[in-house]
Amino acid sequence: MICPRCNSNKVELLTKAPKDNAWEVYICDTCTFSWRNTESENIIDPEKYDARFKLDSREFDQLAQIPPIPKLKK
Ligand SMILES: [Zn+2]
Repeated sequence: MICPRCNSNKVELLTKAPKDNAWEVYICDTCTFSWRNTESENIIDPEKYDARFKLDSREFDQLAQIPPIPKLKK
């Protein structure tokens, strides 16, 4: 299986529906994107995932950082 967002093949089954195997949730080890197998093709199919939201793991180091939390005021 391939991650729809970053095209990594490091995808794991995260969980399954408690009854009837009605759905499964997968998670990408590379970008932490997670999705349910019953979602529409524009979410689960890497070819149809919105190109504006695709990620390239080679660029992760250049992505914006979360601002550091300032020290508490006294
Ligand atoms: Zn991914």
